[in-house]
Amino acid sequence: MPTTNHAVLCGACKCSVEPVSNPKAHDKISCPRCHRSDRYDKVMATVSEYLAHLLEKATAERLSKTARSNSGVKLTIKKPSNRSFRWIAKDVRL
Ligand SMILES: [Zn+2]
Repeated sequence: MPTTNHAVLCGACKCSVEPVSNPKAHDKISCPRCHRSDRYDKVMATVSEYLAHLLEKATAERLSKTARSNSGVKLTIKKPSNRSFRWIAKDVRL
């Protein structure tokens, strides 16, 4: 998943984090508003988790729409619950 193409936002205040050029795993990423900070590798791991979660949600929604419009199909789709993430990505298109 191309997480590095997305701008990273703080999960709490949805504020863009200060960009780091050529970030290394141990670089600190921090939110300029609430000063939450984490290592770059941890932030990226959280963002990938967030993207996977969005994808899972979108897939579940699509499947349940298909199931509703097709009465012959009995399908129980487990929707992922809403979670909060420490770090999220901006403008994700699935
Ligand atoms: Zn913040």
